Amino acid sequence: MKCDERFMNLIDVFDPGKLDADPSTISGLWPDGRLAFMNQAWFDFAAANGGEPDISTRFGLGVSVLTACPPPLDEYYRVLYRRVIETSQPADHDYECSSPDAYRLYHERIHSIAGGQGLMIIHSLVVERPHDPRERPANVPIDSVYRGSQGLAKQCGHCRRFQRHDYPLQWDWIPDWVRNPPHLVSHGLCEFCLRIYYPA
Ligand SMILES: [Zn+2]
Repeated sequence: MKCDERFMNLIDVFDPGKLDADPSTISGLWPDGRLAFMNQAWFDFAAANGGEPDISTRFGLGVSVLTACPPPLDEYYRVLYRRVIETSQPADHDYECSSPDAYRLYHERIHSIAGGQGLMIIHSLVVERPHDPRERPANVPIDSVYRGSQGLAKQCGHCRRFQRHDYPLQWDWIPDWVRNPPHLVSHGLCEFCLRIYYPA
């Protein structure tokens, strides 16, 4: 685990050794979203998904997790964290974290700890399955179909699918672009994610 010394005082009550041994990914944040604690499962998940050593380098203690969220998700989480701190009520949120090969749905429970001095977030895997092959575009020229006149492709910041330029209601799963992110990408939310995951 990695833990900010001052944050250790906030989580003493949980037995930090048990948090570190928990198979669920657990992170601790300061109220503004800066990382203060990551358990071993957090690093194992990053390594298993090809994120290491990049994740450890970019997301050390003190770095805000909000910097990893493209707009408008950063604002969504900023508001959610503030609400948990102010009300001391836990919040629940589902999110997708798919790899090029597997669809994954996670649940996160966000707790206020030590009277609102910090946040503890526990992530649980809900669903993992191979992608539905029908979600993949069949034999389309990727650049011309997904890039507009400015050459910009639009990706849903939540499910990571790409919007068709010629038919904006359709968002497709493109494994190659998830594996190797293309240049010139803007982020937004597809209709589905907006309504299901971020209705607020
Ligand atoms: Zn989406």
